[in-house]
Amino acid sequence: MYQKQIEQLIVLQEVDDEILELTSEIEQAPKELTDLEEQMGEFEERRTQIDEKMSILKEQKKKLSFEIEEDAGKIKKSKNKLMLVGNTKEYHAMMREMDSLEKLNRMRDDEQEAVREELVRQDEATQALNDEMSGVQEQYDALKTTLDERLDKANKKLETLVRKRKKACKAVPPPILGRYEFIRERMEHPVIVPVSEGVCAGCNIMIPPQAYNDLQKGQQILSCPNCQRLIYWQAHVQPAAEQQ
Ligand SMILES: [Zn+2]
Repeated sequence: MYQKQIEQLIVLQEVDDEILELTSEIEQAPKELTDLEEQMGEFEERRTQIDEKMSILKEQKKKLSFEIEEDAGKIKKSKNKLMLVGNTKEYHAMMREMDSLEKLNRMRDDEQEAVREELVRQDEATQALNDEMSGVQEQYDALKTTLDERLDKANKKLETLVRKRKKACKAVPPPILGRYEFIRERMEHPVIVPVSEGVCAGCNIMIPPQAYNDLQKGQQILSCPNCQRLIYWQAHVQPAAEQQ
């Protein structure tokens, strides 16, 4: 009787651990999907930012091209007129104006080069982001298609476990079952632990010799005086392990 109760309590604990794991898997699975959705939302945001930056840069590039062309036209016109100028003062003034226009255009060239380089960098960033996004999208699609399957399987297994649990519960007297549930709800797992060489595996503390003697008699289910977990003598369940 005692032996059978201990065995069933151990089964119960195993089943409960499995149920716990399964339940958290069932709860967790849809969350994985939402996490990926969030990640994709962040990617979209980053892409919008890059796109905005790119359109500003392109606008800047266009403006610079226009200005360069415009001033180059002015310079060309001035050069043609230069031949016709009779007075030195006017000639120098025109030369100065051409110089400053040329200088301006050289600066614009440099600026345009910097814009071009920045555009290349943003292009690369877009490419990297696209790669990352398609990776996450793939992950998302795969997860979504398997999610229902996984949940179905988990739920079926859960049903089996619940049946197994009921069966194990029947073999345990209600007061002990009550103690088991009480401990399970309030303490860190496990609930039922072996005692080997007088030491409780739950709290690693030596139980008093009298309690150890009672435990070895195997007549009633005891609790560890220190941590209150249900205890059993290791040798009752695994005789070989105790001898080692
Ligand atoms: Zn203990």
